[in-house]
Amino acid sequence: MPAAIKLSPKGLRWFRGGHLWIFRDDILAGAEAAQNGEVVRIESSVGSFLAQAFYSQKSKIALRIIRWEEAILDRDFFRGRLQACRDRRGNLFSPATACRLVSAEGDLFPGLIVDHYAGHLVVQFLIPGAERLRPLLLDLFQELFSPRSITLRHDLAVREMEGLDQEKTMLLGEPQREVAVAEGPVRYLADLWEGQKTGAYLDQQMNRLGISRFARGRALDAFCYQGHFALHLARACDEVKAVDSSGPALARLQENCDLNDIKNVAPERANAFEALAALEAQGEKFEFIVLDPPPFAKSRKDLARASKGYRELNRRALALLRPGGHLATYSCSYNLSTEAFLDLLREAAAEARRQVRVLESHTQAPDHPLLLSVPETHYLKGFVLEVAD
Ligand code: SAH
Repeated sequence: MPAAIKLSPKGLRWFRGGHLWIFRDDILAGAEAAQNGEVVRIESSVGSFLAQAFYSQKSKIALRIIRWEEAILDRDFFRGRLQACRDRRGNLFSPATACRLVSAEGDLFPGLIVDHYAGHLVVQFLIPGAERLRPLLLDLFQELFSPRSITLRHDLAVREMEGLDQEKTMLLGEPQREVAVAEGPVRYLADLWEGQKTGAYLDQQMNRLGISRFARGRALDAFCYQGHFALHLARACDEVKAVDSSGPALARLQENCDLNDIKNVAPERANAFEALAALEAQGEKFEFIVLDPPPFAKSRKDLARASKGYRELNRRALALLRPGGHLATYSCSYNLSTEAFLDLLREAAAEARRQVRVLESHTQAPDHPLLLSVPETHYLKGFVLEVAD
C-alpha cells in the first residue's frame, strides 16, 4: 500500500487551485511513512482521495502530482503518458530535427526532461520520483523512441535541492559531441555531452525560425552561444557580429558557419555589456540586434540587480539601432514577470530617447509548454521591438 498523506485545509485550498506542487508546510500528516521518491496518495484531512504524487523527502516541494485518478501507476500508464508527449508534438517542429519530447510539469510528468536531437536522446531525472522509475523509463524510451544513443545529463544544480547527485553518463551508445541538427534552413552541431542545457537552447527554436522576417542590413547577436540566432540572421543580413564570453561556444559557432557555408558572421569574444558600450562609444549602428542573456534573476532576491542589468543592455541596444531597426530581446528569468520586463524596456527606451513599438511577444517553444496552473513553467519572455523614430 502506498503511503497516504493528508493535506491541511490550506493545502486543500491550494490543491483545488490546480497547481501540481504541494509544499511541505501544507502537509497535515502521513509524510513520515512515505519513502523518498515513492508514489503516494494525497488525501483531504478527512481521508478522501485527491490525487497521486511523487514524494520528495528533502525538497521544500514535498509532493508533485502525477495522476488525479486512483488507478495504479503501472508500465502501461507511463507508456501512455510518454506516447501522449510524442503524439502531442506530431509534426510541429518539422523540418527541424530536434525538440523537447518531455517537458516535466508542462507535460504532466514532473521531474522528467527528455530532449531529442536527430535520433539521440538526452535525459534528466530531476526528482527522486523520476529517479526511482529510471529502469522502467529507460526501457520505455527504447521501446517507444528507438534512440541511437541516450545521454544522462545530471550536471545540474536543481538536483541538489532534491538531495540527488551530480552525474553525467551514457545509458546507451557513445558520448555524442557533434550531432548534426537541422533547424529549418540552417544546420548546427549539438554537443550533447558538454553543451549548455542538453546541447542547445531548444526553447528558442521557434523564435529563431521566425526571426529573419525582421532582419536585414547589419545585425548583432549578443550572447550568441554557438550562433544559432546568428546562423538564421546571416541568411537575411549583410553581416552579423556575434558576441559571447565563451571561447568554446565561439569555436563551435565557426564550425556551424562552415557547415552552412556562411561567411558573413564575425565572432567576437567579449563581455556583451562591454562590447555594447564600446560599439556605442564608436558610433556604430545596426539594423537588427538580438539580446538573449543567461538568466540574471535566478532567485527573487536577485531581481533588483538583474533588472538593472537587463535595463542597461536594452538601453544600449536601442541606442545602437538605426531608425526603423529591430531588437529581439529576451529574459529567461522566471522571477522577472512579463509586465516587469515590459516596464524595464519602457524605461530603457526612455533612457535611450527612442520611441519603440512592440511588434511581437515571444515565449518558449510549444515543446516547452506553459502549464497555466504552474506559473513556474513560464520562464522565457521576449519581444520584437521596432524603433519608431
Ligand atoms: N541565443 C543562444 C543562447 C544564449 S545562452 C541560442 O539561441 O542558442 C547565453 C550565452 O551568454 C551563453 O553562451 C554564455 O556563454 C553567454 N554569456 C554569459 N554572460 C555573458 C556576458 N557577460 N557577455 C557575453 N556573453 C555572456
